[in-house]
Amino acid sequence: MQIINTLEELIKVRKSINKSIGFVPTMGALHDGHISLIKLARENNQIIIVSIFVNPTQFLAHEDLDKYPRKDLEDIEICKNNNVDYIFMPNKEMMYQGLDEVLIKAPKLSSYILEGKTRPGHFDGVLQVVLKLFNLVRPTNAYFGKKDAQQLSLISQMVKDLFLDINIIECEIIREEDGLALSSRNIYLSKEHRIEALKISQSLNKAKELIQNNIIDTNEIKFEMINIMNTLDIEYIAFVNREFNEIKYIEKNNTIILIVAKFNNTRLLDNLWV
Ligand code: AMP
Repeated sequence: MQIINTLEELIKVRKSINKSIGFVPTMGALHDGHISLIKLARENNQIIIVSIFVNPTQFLAHEDLDKYPRKDLEDIEICKNNNVDYIFMPNKEMMYQGLDEVLIKAPKLSSYILEGKTRPGHFDGVLQVVLKLFNLVRPTNAYFGKKDAQQLSLISQMVKDLFLDINIIECEIIREEDGLALSSRNIYLSKEHRIEALKISQSLNKAKELIQNNIIDTNEIKFEMINIMNTLDIEYIAFVNREFNEIKYIEKNNTIILIVAKFNNTRLLDNLWV
């Protein structure tokens, strides 16, 4: 495995590759969720490139950019153990060389709601860095988790709208045994919050069960979910279709139920695709 720290090195390596490339962009502090993306990429591509970059432009001024967990040495070990070929670990000066850059604007309709509403500009930063990384890596397939459903949807739209020749592969949400969705931010949770946080996946399981029993009224489902999460500080519960339009009735195979709950300064995000 080769660790790449400069653009020149990456460009040189990329020019030498004439094989299928599976690309897994991450912000590091790798866990089993990230590893599942790497494993899927390993099955379907000849070369695997993982990027680790905590992208400043997707954090709002008051957010946790400086505190975001960094575990470079552990991440390198994890990548080695999972047969990654190259890790690209740039710094922010390399990725953002000018102060007055060409910017990417996420589409209003789907980026000003949910995550976009509480984190205005967040998706502009996500698309900006993903496009830069795509242009550098020029992957065949790029892997993203369904856990960040709105991000996944916007990246797929960018690929379509900007005619990028890249397949976006949607990857299932990986959870702890007790149901908590894995996240690099879980380490911020106190023991008490960690126990409370389980109510998020429990409420999603409840929703799943109701839908299996043919309850499709989202108000009815939401009521039951809030009952389970009644002690949590819920930022939003939303029922949307794959285009991120809010829906009143569940559309089977086309619905995403999204939850964000807050524990002090930590926001946990989870969702269910039905
Ligand atoms: P991040 O490092 O948080 O930017 O995440 C990098 C990629 O890993 C994104 O595509 C995420 O959606 C994905 N990811 C994060 N957590 C999980 C999880 N629990 N299950 C599956 N994918 C995940």
